[in-house]
Amino acid sequence: MAAPSMGGVSLPRGHGQVVRLPRGASLTDLAEKIGAQPAALVTALFHLGEMVTATQSVNEDTLQLLGAEIEWDIQVVSPEDEDRELLETFDLTFGDEGDEADWEARPPVVTVMGHVDHGKTKLLDAIRNTNVVAREAGGITQHIGAYQIVTELEDYERPITFIDTPGHESFTAMRARGAKVTDIVILVVAADDGVMPQTVEALNHAQAAEVPIVVAVNKIDKEGANPAKIRQQLTEYGLVAEEYGGDTMFVDVSATTRQGLDELLTAILLTADASLDLRANTEQDPQGVVIEGKLDKGRGPVATVLVQRGTLRQGDSIVAGDAYGRVRSLLDEHGNKLKEALPARPVQVVGLTSVPRAGDTFLVVEEDRVARQIADRRQARIRNAQNASMRKRISLEDLDAALKENRQLNLIIKGDNSGTVEALEEALMKIEVSDDISLRVIHRGVGGITKSDIDLALADDVIVLGFNVRAEGQATELASREGVDVRYYSVIYQAIEEIEAALKGMLKPEYEEVALGTAEVREVFRVPRIGNVAGSIVRSGTITRNSKARLVRDGVVVADNLTVESLRRFKDDVTEVRDGYECGIGLGSFNDIKIEDVIETFEMREKPRA
Ligand code: GDP
Repeated sequence: MAAPSMGGVSLPRGHGQVVRLPRGASLTDLAEKIGAQPAALVTALFHLGEMVTATQSVNEDTLQLLGAEIEWDIQVVSPEDEDRELLETFDLTFGDEGDEADWEARPPVVTVMGHVDHGKTKLLDAIRNTNVVAREAGGITQHIGAYQIVTELEDYERPITFIDTPGHESFTAMRARGAKVTDIVILVVAADDGVMPQTVEALNHAQAAEVPIVVAVNKIDKEGANPAKIRQQLTEYGLVAEEYGGDTMFVDVSATTRQGLDELLTAILLTADASLDLRANTEQDPQGVVIEGKLDKGRGPVATVLVQRGTLRQGDSIVAGDAYGRVRSLLDEHGNKLKEALPARPVQVVGLTSVPRAGDTFLVVEEDRVARQIADRRQARIRNAQNASMRKRISLEDLDAALKENRQLNLIIKGDNSGTVEALEEALMKIEVSDDISLRVIHRGVGGITKSDIDLALADDVIVLGFNVRAEGQATELASREGVDVRYYSVIYQAIEEIEAALKGMLKPEYEEVALGTAEVREVFRVPRIGNVAGSIVRSGTITRNSKARLVRDGVVVADNLTVESLRRFKDDVTEVRDGYECGIGLGSFNDIKIEDVIETFEMREKPRA
């Protein structure tokens, strides 16, 4: 059979075959995959009313439109899936390998979060200086983005790794990029100040990531410090201290006097031991995450990486994001050269050809060549993605498609005061939709919409509601670049109405049958090539061509699921015939029609929801 043509250029039909394309692909990319001429696809799209050039990125909707036309099932692949597939072509996977029984215990990785000025930086410095090993080594400790200390618990030396960039940004930025680095969050709250907006923000981040929290009640040396009040305040957020019967460890500390630091380290280890089974395969090819990257004047690109599995060694061929190279040297936070780095060990890697980004994953591969090829392919992909004309995150309008699977709408609520935020949240939670859809507020707070809010929204496909507040500088830019849906309201009920409507759109539609008309069969005609046609008189309503129909004989449904495929009055094809008129009705290949049968027609209409 000749290929069907469109606009004079022939196109290979896919007959429903699947073709996978990365986000941001162009018609040239598609053409290559399906063996077509790019120009033919451009023409085809033009006939569908879309003007694009062959090399321009095409958004998913347009690709689907074109796919339907040329009978290819076009699937747009996410960057994560794409990267997985890229690695698969080299027979690589990012993840744990081997038998869990052979894995070895690894230290916990801890991130410190909390409100500004509550002492995160000071606490990280104080902990760094507890390190016996470091003091003995005598080297000058450098900031490399993470460090490891060793503490004693029940006569065992136990290392703990700290991510040395306090604050939520690195935490959420990494999470947004799919890197799960943190095992435990230390929530720092100043005892003389109490729970503040960023305290809440931090704990929301941690809870959204399902990371256990240890609370460090800091500055207990200060006058007016009230550690009991902090415990009290945090119960409202689901953090109940062990001494009150909960399962969160609270430790009173002072970063200044160093009081309570040992207890804090113990609490971290106990929390890790109680709720996490931290193990890693030390034998497999090393993999992990980039914590920090920079260009050093003398040494070139330097990246601090956290080994997550395997043992990283000097001389390894490594690919980190779109950077690659050979590990020339490994340095710890004291500037000491290491021969190897075990899981949970942060280490500076020298020898990359370019600077990877925080949150990029790294892998060690067999050959330099493979590392370079992977890096090249990723670079090409990053370029493509940047060129993509549109990168759609979830928005209220396309909730339905986006949330088909998890049927949960995540929200972040920011408002001008805590009263309105609470009122809005409460009202939203009262919206009743149905059992299979839920609304979850993953973060709420007072103040403008920050970059950190948008980061959080990115990680979870969230809609951000601003009540009498606006997005601040960088946040606006990030939100629009990443396509995060940010909505502003100044009237509560308006917000509720919109969310309610969106949730209703999320529901699987319910259909009901609506009767359109009935006709009685007076005669049956045999028409060549068409089959039997019912010469009928319309008894009620209207008979419409293409409507659904059933055939009833003596009050019994003989056939359901029929379609009025032809409808004629005398010799003319018509689209509808009203009651009282005669017509010829053809029911497609269904021929069992008898005189006095009744043809009922109906359509399925989406039921409006109450
Ligand atoms: P960050 O913004 O959370 O990183 O807070 P910093 O670590 O920069 O600390 C903010 C201020 O609080 C600094 O002036 C610190 O010296 C002070 N500070 C931090 N911890 C303590 C503490 O335990 N006791 C006292 N008295 N002051 C502290």
